[in-house]
Amino acid sequence: MSNAHFFNIQHNMKNLLLTSVFLSFCLWGFPQKDFFNFKETLRIDYLFEGNWKKDTLYTKSFYKYKFNHFNPNTAIDKFNYGNHKVEVFDSLSDVLIFSKGFNSIFEEWQSTAEAKTKTKSFQGSIIMPMPKRSFKFVISNKDKQNNYHIKHSSYINPNIAKSKNLPKNETYTIHKSGKAKDKFDIVIIPDGYGKNDSEKINLDAQKIADGILKCSPYSLLTDKINIHLVQVFSGKSGINDPTRKIKRESALKTTFNFFESERYLMTEEVWNMYDIAMLAPFDAILIMCNTDKYGGGGIYNLYATTCASCTEYAFITTHEMGHSVAGLADEYYTSDVSVEDYYNISVEPVEPNITTLVDFDSKWKNMLPEGTEIPTQIKANDNSLGVYEGAGYQAKGVYRPVPNCSMKDVIYNYFCPVCKRAIRETIEFYTK
Ligand SMILES: [Zn+2]
Repeated sequence: MSNAHFFNIQHNMKNLLLTSVFLSFCLWGFPQKDFFNFKETLRIDYLFEGNWKKDTLYTKSFYKYKFNHFNPNTAIDKFNYGNHKVEVFDSLSDVLIFSKGFNSIFEEWQSTAEAKTKTKSFQGSIIMPMPKRSFKFVISNKDKQNNYHIKHSSYINPNIAKSKNLPKNETYTIHKSGKAKDKFDIVIIPDGYGKNDSEKINLDAQKIADGILKCSPYSLLTDKINIHLVQVFSGKSGINDPTRKIKRESALKTTFNFFESERYLMTEEVWNMYDIAMLAPFDAILIMCNTDKYGGGGIYNLYATTCASCTEYAFITTHEMGHSVAGLADEYYTSDVSVEDYYNISVEPVEPNITTLVDFDSKWKNMLPEGTEIPTQIKANDNSLGVYEGAGYQAKGVYRPVPNCSMKDVIYNYFCPVCKRAIRETIEFYTK
């Protein structure tokens, strides 16, 4: 091959490369509104089904709502948190038009003893702006090496979505900073409140909203946050609690002792929860449980729960929202429930506030003062930023940013700088 010929090939390749860079720039440069009808919302209900080693995902129902609160700028996820990811591609151009990372109850259940002997299915929903034409709907799961594998892929015509009526519950806005489209919207859904508890719902919701708004970094971002309340009544006051022999069928069916863990307060009835949540704009759902017993739970981009009448309600609310809003990991490593090898220490975990030092550059390395020793030794009365061993339920090989943080200790308004940054980045993403 002559040099001139080689040059031509190189030249043509370069042109091709430039053209494709230009093309993808054009495609990415398209505002997402070109692909969506921003007057409607699409909800896709699906089921995760399987056991400890096998799982499948299939779509179940398609609903349309005649309103939309999405900011087009948030259509593509930038965080890559969570062990699942939904992606939506325009069927004509194959352009990615919507994506979002999330965690699931199903995936947690897969590591329980029950999953060794039983097959079960768990509900989930994807809520997104309504595509204008057929689209490819893809859900992928991460493996232990954090590589995605496609679990479900199908072409969907948005015309199959049926209109969905909203329930008749009253809704209120507790804290308003602006239009839902431009703000981070939290919806509080009460559970376990009887017909006569309407005043208690309002008082508890106000108290919990204050707990969020007075906790840093939320306290510095109150002009970017809206908090809504949907009034939901249950037949009888209280939350189901098998260990205290309290039996309740509350509106959201939240229960203590979830997955045999006494303080784990969760509901499997996710579709019912979304039916109610859709009454208000939301980027995050908080289920406020009418109980004085310590308990809660939080799953990334699904929901968080909190006990409304327990002493630590403000801590639990903000800790669980750390999981559900910003994909934060627990920074503690001693637990009632022993979880062995929860994290593979040869892989960098996805959560922003823990590291295995495999790819520390992607974590809080740029926040460390110069000369910080890695790992950092704990000094008395010193909570400085460093890299401290013990986090994510493991004493060895997983590291946290500070000795003490709200993601490790029962201390309200004590998020470390790394957790604060992750929460702030999430809220700013929804409000840009
Ligand atoms: Zn932290």
